[in-house]
Amino acid sequence: MSDKLIKSIKGINDILPEDVEILQNLEKVIYNIANQYCISEIRLPLLEKTELFKRSIGIGSEIVEKEMYTFEDNNGELISLRPEGTASCVRCALENNLIYDRGIKKKKYWYHGPMFRYENPQRGRFRQFYQFGFEYFGFSNIDNDVELISLCKRLFISKLDLTNIKLHINSIGNKEDRVKYAETISTFLKKYKNDLNQIQKNTLVRNPMRLLDSKDKKIQNILTDLPKFINVMSDHSRVRFESILEKLDELKIKYYVDNSIVRGLDYYNDTVFEWKHSSLGSQDAVCAGGRYDELVKEIGGVSVPAMGFAFGVERLLDLIRDNKKLSYTRPRILLINISKENSYKYFLKFEELRDKYHAIKFYNYNVDENSSLRAALQFGSKNLNCKYAVIIGDSELSDNLYTLKEFHAKNEDKKISQNELDKILKDINNG
Ligand code: ATP
Ligand code: MG
Repeated sequence: MSDKLIKSIKGINDILPEDVEILQNLEKVIYNIANQYCISEIRLPLLEKTELFKRSIGIGSEIVEKEMYTFEDNNGELISLRPEGTASCVRCALENNLIYDRGIKKKKYWYHGPMFRYENPQRGRFRQFYQFGFEYFGFSNIDNDVELISLCKRLFISKLDLTNIKLHINSIGNKEDRVKYAETISTFLKKYKNDLNQIQKNTLVRNPMRLLDSKDKKIQNILTDLPKFINVMSDHSRVRFESILEKLDELKIKYYVDNSIVRGLDYYNDTVFEWKHSSLGSQDAVCAGGRYDELVKEIGGVSVPAMGFAFGVERLLDLIRDNKKLSYTRPRILLINISKENSYKYFLKFEELRDKYHAIKFYNYNVDENSSLRAALQFGSKNLNCKYAVIIGDSELSDNLYTLKEFHAKNEDKKISQNELDKILKDINNG
């Protein structure tokens, strides 16, 4: 490859056609599920005022401190590529009176698209990555916490067959509970001060709860004896959490109460959860979400209870690449014109086939002075992975006969009539 080629930016990847095909099928599954729950799609901009993320995700959070792509536009205004979708969704909903207009409206939205974070690129962690997100506004009842989790189960387990995916759930109570629990953590860790590295010591001062989701084995071991959050939190939040777990039991949704799920973003309260899959290595969280009753007020000045979740497409894609249901597409058919003249007639013939068989993928190949039938067949077999080639030349056109070649089969090529071709194509089209 020439040194002149300008390569892509580190951590910002192309998505190639094979994966796009799987993603298109995944998108169909998600559209259907969103429709089943009457959740409306919303399309949000990639750029927002930096202020929006500072106020929502929180100054002091890792994303705002270190990970945002922020720059001044020509007018000197600070803008950022969105690192996540919730803040934009709330901003949009408020700006357009979708969830508050002299009263709270109960609304459900979903969105998808690229997010940008200046992170250390590695497996499952990129600088441009894609998310699907779901947000519920105006609902404070626990039934909605349960509905969102049940929707995830429908998607991950019922539709995508990810039987080994695990729901980790926790409650982080209300603001006062978190202040109290931060003190519990600080007190508990006093005797382990010398076991912490400098970064952990800083986190202990700034945001002790973030130590709970540390990937460092040593601190994880120390924290096994830490009193659980549920023992410290207010009765209201504890009862709320216990009721959610009871409902999950009733729905036979398996879960693991996991005290280490605290979420990195500032805006969560009460229910928080992640869906994890062990085959993903250290970036094992596919989906994360929770309740954020204070965020709408933080951004827009009106109080609207809310909750949501988002899942990362790249990590999910790693889990579903081998799922035949998603990679299945009807076979492709190569249409080869070997006539030396009058090629427009062939084009019309091929277009007729497209008019009749909407679900089949046809690829036109004109054999001309720069190519050969052999090259055409090789292309169909190797590059396009076609099931059949339909070859048509001058004699075929006058006799209304086609030459049919079946790739990856031992059958001889054969001449077939229009009726026989129609029968084969009809079966594929409806299959
Ligand atoms: P993690 O702990 O893995 O960094 P997070 O808590 O920062 O995740 P969220 O901001 O809640 O994640 O995003 C939800 C989901 O989006 C994650 O569970 C993951 O699947 C995906 N995700 C987040 N950051 C990235 C990234 N840099 N690259 C690829 N996927 C990501
Ligand atoms: Mg992160």
